[in-house]
Amino acid sequence: MIDYHLHTARCCHATGTMEEYLAAAEKNRLLEIGFADHFPLGLLGFKPRNQVTMNPEELSDYIQHVNKLNDISQNVNVKLGIEVDYLPGTEEKLRDLLLNYNFDYVIGSIHFIGDWDFTHPVYADDYKNKDLDKLYRRYFKLVQDACRSGLFDIIGHLDVVKKFNYRPARNLDSLWRETARLLKVTNTCLELNTAGRDAPVAEFYPDQRFLEICLSEKVGITMGSDAHSPEQVGRYFPEALALLKKTGYRELTVFKKRQRSSISI
Ligand code: ZN
Ligand code: FE
Ligand code: FE
Ligand code: ZN
Repeated sequence: MIDYHLHTARCCHATGTMEEYLAAAEKNRLLEIGFADHFPLGLLGFKPRNQVTMNPEELSDYIQHVNKLNDISQNVNVKLGIEVDYLPGTEEKLRDLLLNYNFDYVIGSIHFIGDWDFTHPVYADDYKNKDLDKLYRRYFKLVQDACRSGLFDIIGHLDVVKKFNYRPARNLDSLWRETARLLKVTNTCLELNTAGRDAPVAEFYPDQRFLEICLSEKVGITMGSDAHSPEQVGRYFPEALALLKKTGYRELTVFKKRQRSSISI
């Protein structure tokens, strides 16, 4: 199994050393892991109220450290990923910045709607004042725009807007179908992100229904625990794998220097 979504202490809200994450991966017999820490928002000219990403001056150290771990790792492949916030208007800047680095894959995530960090527990109460139907439309419009930008290999935690369990009453199938089609036509993967199980919503991102829609549109998939501590590496993976198989997925997409291939599951 592969876990393509590991953080490091550089983002200021994760704990443990990278060696401990690698050791946890060995213990869980993972074939391959990828660090995907939060890309410095400062480089995109955005400064949120809470620091949630590494600092610009930490990026080269992060890259060197991941590469070093891959050199010394015996049993586990270590890939160099990054999780970048999709912020409308920063596409060209990001395109230029990404040319400077040799990432194996780039995860595009949406954590901000305007300047609201809607994934941060501190601001979770703000959901109470929202029209949830509009909010979901706005969120998935951002996901679709992220796909259209062509900047990302994978969309992170595809339906993270459900994190605090605020959901519109209406059926979301058409919004999901539209989003899955866009993932497909822009050749963007999703990830089965198991972190949602430990959030108030208590389910994976995305859930089974949305996964089925993604499969029926033939969207490629990776797996990620979104670990912010070593003991979260590969969390709920046996269950996640069973869900993938039950849904009908037969392979995972893997990346090397932004070229994709697949492994069967
Ligand atoms: Zn994080
Ligand atoms: Fe994220
Ligand atoms: Fe993450
Ligand atoms: Zn994340």
